Amino acid sequence: MKQFCDAILGGATGEELAAIPIPESYRAAFVRRDETEMFADLQTSEKDPRRSLHVEEVATPELAPDECYVAVMASAINFNTVWTSIFEPLATFAFLGRLGREGLWGKRHDLPYHVVGSDASGVVVRTGSAVRSWRPGDRVVLHSNYVDSEDPQAHDDSMLASNQRIWGFETNFGGLADLAVVRASQLMRKPAHLSWEEAAVSGLCNCTAYRMLVSRNGAQMKQGDVVLIWGATGGLGGYAVQYVLNGGGIPVGVVSSPAKAKLLASMGCEAVIDRKAAAYGFWSDEGTQNEAEWRRFGKDIRSLVGDDPDIVFEHPGRETMGASVFVAKRAGTIITCAATSGYMIEYDNRHLWMKLKTIKSSHLANYAEAWEANKLIERGRIHPRLSVVYPLSEVGEATRQVQLNLHDGKVGVRCLAPELGLGIDDPAFREKIGEDKITLFQRAAK
Ligand code: NDP
Repeated sequence: MKQFCDAILGGATGEELAAIPIPESYRAAFVRRDETEMFADLQTSEKDPRRSLHVEEVATPELAPDECYVAVMASAINFNTVWTSIFEPLATFAFLGRLGREGLWGKRHDLPYHVVGSDASGVVVRTGSAVRSWRPGDRVVLHSNYVDSEDPQAHDDSMLASNQRIWGFETNFGGLADLAVVRASQLMRKPAHLSWEEAAVSGLCNCTAYRMLVSRNGAQMKQGDVVLIWGATGGLGGYAVQYVLNGGGIPVGVVSSPAKAKLLASMGCEAVIDRKAAAYGFWSDEGTQNEAEWRRFGKDIRSLVGDDPDIVFEHPGRETMGASVFVAKRAGTIITCAATSGYMIEYDNRHLWMKLKTIKSSHLANYAEAWEANKLIERGRIHPRLSVVYPLSEVGEATRQVQLNLHDGKVGVRCLAPELGLGIDDPAFREKIGEDKITLFQRAAK
């Protein structure tokens, strides 16, 4: 892959890249099927990705007609890599087995190792025989919706297709590697004003936040809406806050430290709640929730913005869902895409039905939504929330940081890119947008 990297950095043309042979193996981060029981007796926080994630050479799979090989310059950690690397709530080899039963091309994925990663930026170096819209040399970012077009539902909303998968989580050959194998329908143009590592981090979280808040498939936020955002400086939250501000809404951001509160304020979010400082006790014990604490939380929100949330941007799950349902405004929407703290959810249904609230689910984004979300980055209206970057060789440490919530925004991973700051093709536009906006989280992490 070094030959590809040198050629890309040297400004090689598409034809020149297409003439470089694809190597028989490439460097990748993966978990092993024979290690899925390694953490069997440990508490979740003791399950350490630094032990389960390996970085070694793996065999290059054959390319299907609708796929491309992408030389990966940079990638990112998503929470799904935390889940895969601690084998919770289940080992992802079950997904690969199911994909393996789908036919010849699916079978390639069912291996004793799972190459992880659902984000990447890089350069197309080969296209399959059926690919029409992309060619070698195209500089791209990837989004992780992996779906084929044979399910009729995929032509309405591909997230509804029965074989919809998350690339690098429910498929093999993910982005935490020097080479990625992706469907052509996962490719999007790389924003020209960003470096490789800045461009790499937004695919999954930006697109998810877009669908949750902006798309007609999500909460359809309107101007003036109060939006409560949990984890407002985290991966999803860092984009959600930007969408609310762009769309004329009023974000109320929840974070867990004074440093995060400061970072959130510097994004332009005026209503900030430090949940640690407030010491909310939504659960009196493991099985009992405390309505008085929900009420205190609701009062804190009202005191900041004078109203209840029209929309609650939910993802922590069990720990917060009771409070989220309670504080949402009459007829408000709780839009949820995850359950980091536990997926067996409890809330008081009386507060839902008596006040005509809606709990709506959301998951990633279809290609059209992802394209719109990426276009906003290309236009400098949404900025990547990259904070720190690790080399691929330290992917275990990078994943551990996210698992323990020690990070802000997105944690980047340098794959082929030999140093930071490369890949900026439009410095004039970058200057126009403002370095301060693009690198806000990077500067806060220093
Ligand atoms: P991050 O870890 O980057 O951010 C999550 C934030 O949530 C943290 O920064 C933290 O902020 C807050 N948080 C964590 N635990 C709690 C808790 N118990 N109570 C309140 N707040 C909490 O993760 P992401 O934002 O990338 O992802 C969040 C979840 O969403 C994950 O479970 C992930 O798997 C899922 N996800 C789902 C997607 C989908 O398509 N369905 C797409 C992307 C992510 P603080 O401590 O400052 O309050």
